[in-house]
Amino acid sequence: MKVILAQPRGFCAGVERAIEIVETALEKFGKPIYVRHEIVHNPHVVKRLKEKGVIFVEDTDEVPDGKVVIFSAHGVTPEVENHARGRNLTVIDATCPLVLKVHTEGQKYAKKNYEVILIGHKGHPEIEGTLGRIRSNNGIVSLVSDIEDVKKVSVKNPDLLAYITQTTLSLDETRDVIDALKARFPNIVGPATKDICYATQNRQGAVRELAKLVDVVIVIGAHNSSNSNRLRERAEEVGISAYLIEDASHLNLDWVKGKERVGITAGASAPEDLVQEVIELLRREFKDVSVEIMQGGVQENVHFQLPTSLTKAKPLNPPAT
Ligand code: SF4
Repeated sequence: MKVILAQPRGFCAGVERAIEIVETALEKFGKPIYVRHEIVHNPHVVKRLKEKGVIFVEDTDEVPDGKVVIFSAHGVTPEVENHARGRNLTVIDATCPLVLKVHTEGQKYAKKNYEVILIGHKGHPEIEGTLGRIRSNNGIVSLVSDIEDVKKVSVKNPDLLAYITQTTLSLDETRDVIDALKARFPNIVGPATKDICYATQNRQGAVRELAKLVDVVIVIGAHNSSNSNRLRERAEEVGISAYLIEDASHLNLDWVKGKERVGITAGASAPEDLVQEVIELLRREFKDVSVEIMQGGVQENVHFQLPTSLTKAKPLNPPAT
């Protein structure tokens, strides 16, 4: 069996930064540190941080006075942020800079009196945050997820209309939705597909190429991870079976039995050691497993700075001198 690994795969710069923010906060302030929502959508990342002293909450009201709270990489509404900042809490924002860029775009359109159509998945925390950021600027914003939504959406002035998108959507589906919006509202303006972040684009491009080389694709990632679900869909579009699993313990060996070439990739919030555990399992279960990395993938060199609210923050209880 030949195992081919997608390139690139796994952690993106926004996820690396979010985890580094939490780990730096733990070093600087000591435990416990509170994080609102899963810092990134991966149960292994969450479990490892819990073991280091992080308490995950869904509402900042659960954070005791005087403590540190970190917002997840997905972003939050202004109400959540203002409520936390209005309390006696140290607030650190781990929202990915590329999500913040979408907030800024939406707010810019709202300030110019454009009505905004946000393309994304209802209920995803990034979407809740982006909707809230636009509405806080008195903006009018509607959410559409697919072409059916485009047919139904009602707008006040089709000549003053803009669209923006969630960062982790499918490139192709988003293009179809944008085309449907342009067909219905010819004067709509927007940023093409470039709201979809570099990591999502690169991983989707890589898995599509990978799927052409193999008999089956295994995607490692959480079931609530938007970008991981899109990777499985992209592989299936090439016409092969693809499965999304959280880790090696969820791999059904029947999926790969008898296959000559098995492709593996990982979502932007899935740690690389989970990929290695799947490879170890395959090596234990099957004879002559070779592993190679697919050729020609994009080499990523993106790194985001930590927020100054963290790097410049003083420890809560500095040691007596
Ligand atoms: Fe940021 Fe993209 Fe990573 Fe999301 S997937 S955290 S938008 S870099």
